[in-house]
Amino acid sequence: MNDRSAIVVGAGIGGLSAAIALQKSGWNTEVIERATRIDPVGAGLTLQPNAVLALRRLGCSDEVEHVGAHLRFGGLRRADGSPLSVLSATDAERIEETVGAPAIGIHRATLHAALARHVDQLSLASELTAYEDRGDLVRVTTADGKQREADLLIGADGINSRLRASIQNDGAPRYAGYYCWRGVASGDAGLPKGWAAEYWGDGLRFGGCAIDDGRTYWFAVQTGPPGGATIEAGTKDSLRAMYSGFAPEVDRLLEATDPQAIIGGDIADRNPVAQWSQGRVALLGDAAHAMTPNLGQGACQAIEDALVLGEQLAAVDATGVTAALAEYQRIRVPRANKTVRMARRVGDVARMQNRLGVAVRDGALRATPASMLRSQLTRAWRLPY
Ligand SMILES: Cc1cc2nc3c(=O)[nH]c(=O)nc-3n(C[C@H](O)[C@H](O)[C@H](O)COP(=O)(O)OP(=O)(O)OC[C@H]3O[C@@H](n4cnc5c(N)ncnc54)[C@H](O)[C@@H]3O)c2cc1C
Repeated sequence: MNDRSAIVVGAGIGGLSAAIALQKSGWNTEVIERATRIDPVGAGLTLQPNAVLALRRLGCSDEVEHVGAHLRFGGLRRADGSPLSVLSATDAERIEETVGAPAIGIHRATLHAALARHVDQLSLASELTAYEDRGDLVRVTTADGKQREADLLIGADGINSRLRASIQNDGAPRYAGYYCWRGVASGDAGLPKGWAAEYWGDGLRFGGCAIDDGRTYWFAVQTGPPGGATIEAGTKDSLRAMYSGFAPEVDRLLEATDPQAIIGGDIADRNPVAQWSQGRVALLGDAAHAMTPNLGQGACQAIEDALVLGEQLAAVDATGVTAALAEYQRIRVPRANKTVRMARRVGDVARMQNRLGVAVRDGALRATPASMLRSQLTRAWRLPY
């Protein structure tokens, strides 16, 4: 089975992980990426334990675990820092022991570079413009007029996926009702090692975690109509003013941030769908299940996709591709789509502005027993494959 070939569209976290998984299963894989260089937009990222476990199984977690920050679960706090839903250190350790891996905080650029080092063939400035599933193979055309053929095609081309449009045609992503600025503070702002936390106010949220190189990633979320996270509205000074009622560490993190590196954008997701594959073509990552970032699971679920995809394709030849992709879809759709729905629900609760609603929400969160939180997190972070 030496001559099996795959094309992966998109060199995001999903596409790179998919390529690593396919290579591991013996597929000759090329990633095509429209960008002219790998320069991921974004700041930091949390890789939850399920993703760390999947990267271990893919054989590419060493660098990520070595350089990334090993996070201690910080839980949810009110804007002023008082606890809403926080686990004790013992509970957090028990979860980590049960699931078998820590959560890792890492800069996106560090993660991309670490994954890209494991990928054999990556073609930049190669934008897919068309493809044709001919039954016995897939033919791909790129913007430069070049054609390629392969036994299978993976669409890891993000939330606005062209491949999804041809399989699902379900229109544009859904704006979630809030936008977000992100940045990286140059140090730890005096916060403890492995710090991670989220602060919920009314219509404003702030969160972050330690990442590689002693830096700290943060995100600042605001409820409002789309397009609000402009550079002008998100200057360091305006963010400091906006979050001045928050716990003092929030201001310290903003203060320690390079103002040029603050980025903003709308938060969006897609309605879950049950069909991710068609013939020799399958979707992966945000193309399959774009979700809001409220659970820190978008990239983690993409990495899980890659693991399952590679395992389903390990033992099939070119004639078994369609069945293997359908099996990948059968295994992955329920868990990924449940995560999309859960992330949306959490976002809807978190974005509340109404004072009474916020008071009820906060009361309910404080009343949630630690044992319930522990079992929810254990279920979400355990790798079920
Ligand atoms: C504010 C925020 C915070 C987040 N935090 C976390 C977190 O802490 N943890 C977590 O797990 N997830 C998080 N996520 C989600 C995570 O960022 C995404 O789920 C993940 O990056 C998706 O990866 P992907 O590879 O599927 O898509 P993308 O990263 O979008 O990559 C798609 C790639 O395809 C390329 N492409 C598109 N079209 C074509 C084409 N026609 N031809 C060739 N190339 C093409 C694009 O250039 C791009 O490089 C967060 C998201 C946001 C917005």
